[in-house]
Amino acid sequence: MELVLRNARLHDNDYLVDIGISDGKFSEIKKNIADKGDEEIDLKGRFVSPPLVEIHVHMDAALTVGEPRYNLGGSLLEGIDIWSERKKTLTKEDVKNRVRKALKWEISNGVTRVRTHVDVCDPSFNALNALLEIKKEFKDYIDLQIVAFPQEGIFSYPDGEELMRKAMEKGTDVVGGIPHYEWTREDGVKDAIFAVSLGKELGKMVDLHIDETDDEHSRFVEVLAAETIKNNYLGKVTASHTTAMHSYNNAYAFKLLGWIKKAELNMVTNPLDNSVLQARFDTYPKRRGHTRVKEMDAMGINVSIADDSIMDPWYPLGLGDPLQAAFVFVHYGQMSGYNEMMRLIEMITTNPAKTFGAKDYGIKVGNPADLVVFDAPTAIDAIRLVSRRYLVIKNGNIIAQTKPYETNIFMDGKEEKIDFIK
Ligand SMILES: [Zn+2]
Repeated sequence: MELVLRNARLHDNDYLVDIGISDGKFSEIKKNIADKGDEEIDLKGRFVSPPLVEIHVHMDAALTVGEPRYNLGGSLLEGIDIWSERKKTLTKEDVKNRVRKALKWEISNGVTRVRTHVDVCDPSFNALNALLEIKKEFKDYIDLQIVAFPQEGIFSYPDGEELMRKAMEKGTDVVGGIPHYEWTREDGVKDAIFAVSLGKELGKMVDLHIDETDDEHSRFVEVLAAETIKNNYLGKVTASHTTAMHSYNNAYAFKLLGWIKKAELNMVTNPLDNSVLQARFDTYPKRRGHTRVKEMDAMGINVSIADDSIMDPWYPLGLGDPLQAAFVFVHYGQMSGYNEMMRLIEMITTNPAKTFGAKDYGIKVGNPADLVVFDAPTAIDAIRLVSRRYLVIKNGNIIAQTKPYETNIFMDGKEEKIDFIK
C-alpha cells in the first residue's frame, strides 16, 4: 500500500475511517487499516469528499474584470457588451495565461473536472484554440470539457450556425446555446432545436444558457425538454441558469418541472453571478431570481451548483471555488436546513459528476484514488468556514496542499489558539 490516510470523516458518517491507496486506486476503506503503507497521513477527523466538479464556468473570460471597463450597472446585458469589446483584443497567449492561472485556483480548491463554456462568436476562434491546447496541457490534473457557447446568439450573429459547426469540428466536447438572447422568440426556439439536433447528430452532450432573465415570459426550457424527449436524448442535455423559473406562476412551473424530469435534464444554478445579475430592473421588492432548486431536488431532478465567473465582466469576485457558490446558496436559496446543507455538498460533487459523465467517480474500493480533504471536521463546517482544502489527491498523488491557518488571541497576558470549531 503506497499511502494510508488515517481518521477521515466521509460525508455524514459519525465515525472515522482509514483510506488505503495502492497503484493509484482505493484499495481499502475501513476502520483501522493494519498496513502501515509507504506513507501515512493522519487527517485528524477532517471531512473528506470525492473531488469537486466545476460544471459551469467561463474560462475564456476569467480574470478580465475591469478590461476595458467595469460593469457599473451590474446587468447581464452590460456584461455581454463589455465582453464583446474585450473579445476584440483576445490573443491565444492572453487566454492561455489567464486560464492556466484560473485552473490552478480550481485545482487548489479540490476541483479535478471542469466544464468551461467558450465563446465561439468569433471567427478567429482564438479563445477556443487556446482552450483546446490547455486541455492537453492540463490533462493529468484536470479533465476539461469545452462547450461551444454562442454568446451573441446562433441566429442573431453572422454565420452563427456555421461557427457552431466549425467549433464542434475542432474537437469541442459539448454543444451550447443561448435561446433567451436571440433577437426574437422564434429565433430562440430555433436555437434550442438546433443545439439538440446538432448534439444528437454528433453524439455530443448539450448544455444551454437558457432563460437567464427575470422575464417570466422567457419559456425556452419547455422547448429544450420537448426536443430532448422527441429526440430520445434523455440525460444528455443540461439547462444552465433557468432563472426565469423564479418568476413563473406556480401552475406553469409545476407543469414545466414535470417535463424537465421526464427529459432527465441536468440543471445548473450559478448563485454567485445570478445573485448580483438578476432583478436589476426591479425596484422594490427585489426578486431573488434563482431557479427552483429545492423543488427540483425533491423531485429527483439532478441539480448542480457552479461558479460561472472568476473575475470577469459579469461577476467581479470569485476564486474558482464551487464551495463558495454553495455557501452563498445556503442564504440566497434558503437551504439552511441540516439535510439541505448536506445536499449542497452533493450539488458540487456527485450531481455535477453525473452531468459531466464522469466514470469511476467516488470514494469506493477499485475507483481511482481521487479525493479532497477539507480543513474542517464535518461537511457543515466545511460550508460554514468555506474551509480551505487541506489536501487534493488525484490518482493517489497529492496535487495540492494548503497549510492550515493559525490564529492566536492575546488576552489577560495569555496566548490562546483559536480554531473556529464548536
Ligand atoms: Zn454562464
